[in-house]
Amino acid sequence: MKIMSVNSGSSSIKFQLFIMPEEKVISKGQVEKIGFDDAICTLRYNGEVYKKVLPIKDHAVGVKMIIDGLIEHKVLKSMDEIKGVGHRIVQGGEIFKKSELIDKRVLDDIISLSDMAPLHNPAHATAIKAFKKIMPNVPHVAVFDTTFHQTMAEDAYMYAVPYFWYSKYGVRKYGAHGTSHKYVSEETNKLLSRENTKVIVCHIGNGASISAVKDGRCVDTSMGFTPLDGIPMGTRSGSLDPAILNFMENKLNIGTDEMYEILNKKSGYLGVSELTSDARDLEAAIDKGNKKAKLAFDLQAKRIADYIGSYYVYMGGLDALCFTAGIGENSPRLRKLVLDRLSVLGVKYDEKLNNENKLVISTNESKVKVFVIRTDEEVMIARDTMKFIK
Ligand code: ADP
Repeated sequence: MKIMSVNSGSSSIKFQLFIMPEEKVISKGQVEKIGFDDAICTLRYNGEVYKKVLPIKDHAVGVKMIIDGLIEHKVLKSMDEIKGVGHRIVQGGEIFKKSELIDKRVLDDIISLSDMAPLHNPAHATAIKAFKKIMPNVPHVAVFDTTFHQTMAEDAYMYAVPYFWYSKYGVRKYGAHGTSHKYVSEETNKLLSRENTKVIVCHIGNGASISAVKDGRCVDTSMGFTPLDGIPMGTRSGSLDPAILNFMENKLNIGTDEMYEILNKKSGYLGVSELTSDARDLEAAIDKGNKKAKLAFDLQAKRIADYIGSYYVYMGGLDALCFTAGIGENSPRLRKLVLDRLSVLGVKYDEKLNNENKLVISTNESKVKVFVIRTDEEVMIARDTMKFIK
């Protein structure tokens, strides 16, 4: 059976088409620059890349381009071969504790959470409507980045601020990257051949978050009310003393919106290195002796290790530590910087295995297994979607 996994934004729709339950990707692609006259539709199939530049006025036209493209290139005989569509949704708030079949109520609830994810939820809703219009007879399933974190206890998700901020306005930790944390922790349990495990997942990409997963359930995570919290990232600051905001707003004579923009888009690697938000470029600069680039990496590694220490205490031990996402999967240097700080926890790793990005990089003597696992959020979306197909 064929299932499509969709990740949509305000001007783009990315998709992967799976054969399930084999979990085989047969095609993937995207439409970008929706709303522009030079929108780009890309489709990959059988090792070929098909690309078209043309006006795509809205998401509905984008969806039609994707389907028509799949039929034109004989990936599909007809649209009816797609038996379900899974949609990635960034914010599910406290409403959604699991993936849901999208009906009017679910769609309205996704829209109602827009003030907590203004760049994402409205765009998801637009794309869902477009897909449902073109494919009205198949299940559309919402898979949320936040649901995996809904098992956190109050002491992990509450902030020490006036209680009504939470009860009236929903201010609490929701986390992000949940689908990735779930996938990687499930793969880890398979590697450990048991379910009662204490696992820490370090998802280190452009966006980066860490989560503590006990017995398959998330108990804490580093991103908070928004993805700005936690460790420093490509362009985001991660957590900082909130008093800095007011202090620097006065110094720079800027308002809260501009401050928010700086913390989201001009901080992290980019802010500290004053050079780049990209880890590969940062590493190249470190190799040339750039001190600020090195500091950007060191700062992040220190903060990652801090979270690992705190989650070790919170869970009362650790069976496995996993690195995933662009940097976690591909940067031996970043992993080394983190792992060298963890010897006090009995973490031992093999330099050669680390340098080769192997699946298992810990030594046999290590008290904690260390894994490098390629994340796959799309397959999780396809798996959840399949559950709703009768
Ligand atoms: P996101 O999905 O959050 O946009 P990714 O998970 O794709 O981000 O990660 C992007 C980051 O991964 C970039 O900083 C990129 O430089 C880094 N990256 C990718 N490949 C490598 C590599 N071989 N070595 C170091 N960093 C890498």
